[in-house]
Amino acid sequence: MEMGFADHIPMYFFPPEERDCSIAMGEEELPSYAERVRELQKRYHPFPVRFGIEADYTPGMEQELSNILGQYDFDYVLGSVHYLDGWGFDNSSHKGGYDKWALYELYEFYFSLLGRAAASGMFDTMAHPDLIKKFGFKPDGDIIPLYEEAVRTIAGAGVCVEINTAGFRVPAAEVYPNMEFLKLCCRYRVPVTLGSDAHKPDLVGYRFSDALSLLREAGYTEIVTFNRKNKNYIRI
Ligand SMILES: [Zn+2]
Repeated sequence: MEMGFADHIPMYFFPPEERDCSIAMGEEELPSYAERVRELQKRYHPFPVRFGIEADYTPGMEQELSNILGQYDFDYVLGSVHYLDGWGFDNSSHKGGYDKWALYELYEFYFSLLGRAAASGMFDTMAHPDLIKKFGFKPDGDIIPLYEEAVRTIAGAGVCVEINTAGFRVPAAEVYPNMEFLKLCCRYRVPVTLGSDAHKPDLVGYRFSDALSLLREAGYTEIVTFNRKNKNYIRI
């Protein structure tokens, strides 16, 4: 068993007035976050405590983000898409934004960005890869080709996907990503990591046994953890 922390990186690429400390750490907090995880690693040694971070993919800011990530020796970096042209689509206070979109086009935009993020080479794992379903808005058309395109890109980039049990706790009421997406990941041999996106101590490991059953159902026999960017495979 092991445990990893992956707090959300500061919102460097947003104007200061739009940075929200309830969803991401403030700029001044990153060094102390790193220090606190290091302390935990020492305190609980030899139990493995991993030092991770979650970072948003912002097109056009790849170099800047790489420079920031390069300042720390993370065990792993989770890449995520929470913003589409600056719209925080998973934030319940901006839910009205869905009305402005044809859902199929919205999904197309989201999954193309997810693929670009994976191809950027900055991330080890794509976090909650179908986050766009969070509030239960789903297009009528066949979205499997959108999944498949993204999964193929993720596989080609050698990036993992995260199975994230926070999906059980939102209106979509299913794990991120769903079974169709997971099966495609398995078919394209994309390794998976396991996360609960806990935000609170009592949610650490939330419904992991359900997530593991779903992984087995999708065809997986192992999950991945990271130690200084190296993959460890754990049988499930
Ligand atoms: Zn996230």
